Amino acid sequence: MNGTAHVAIGAATGFIVANTFQAPPSTTLLLVGLGGVSGLIPDLDIDGSLRGKITISHEAIRTVAQLIGALMIAYSFYEGGVREKWFGIGIGLALMVVSSMIKQKHMLTITGVGVLVGGVSLQELWLLLLGIYILIASFVSHRSYTHSLLGVIFFGIIASKLEASLGIDGVFYSCLAGYISHLIADLKILPFNKRGIKLFLPVSKKEI
Ligand SMILES: [Zn+2]
Repeated sequence: MNGTAHVAIGAATGFIVANTFQAPPSTTLLLVGLGGVSGLIPDLDIDGSLRGKITISHEAIRTVAQLIGALMIAYSFYEGGVREKWFGIGIGLALMVVSSMIKQKHMLTITGVGVLVGGVSLQELWLLLLGIYILIASFVSHRSYTHSLLGVIFFGIIASKLEASLGIDGVFYSCLAGYISHLIADLKILPFNKRGIKLFLPVSKKEI
């Protein structure tokens, strides 16, 4: 099933949740959106179009990282004591060198780290956990852990923290239902699926 179909099904589940909670129009819109996004999340383990869409372009990240590195070198050169100066210049240089060597295929991993760091600095637990989720998704094979019960539980925790942070009823259920709708749509029993999902990883590797 393609991404558009997953978004549509996820959005529909978000709409059902919004109706169940008798949410006002603005909240309904939010829940539909969250359901749609959640319906795409399990496929972050794909090497392909989806990965290209969520990740900021390679060149943009590299330019920003090199700019930060250059600014850090310049700043360290004019400010601070001798130790801080060399420390700052060292980090700045490392940043410029590392960013020039990064390959496109590591972009999702880098995005995960970025989201994680953002979560830490904003002190938002859901964002921190989402960063960890993206990091893991960038390493596991397609239709494995993100398409398993473990993935559902992990994402459920993220969703519950998001609901607590936003203080809006229905956020948790919309995200969770959107996510689960993806796994159901990927089941092997459906005629258009050649492959199933390994729902019980790591206990069982059987595709269902
Ligand atoms: Zn999938």
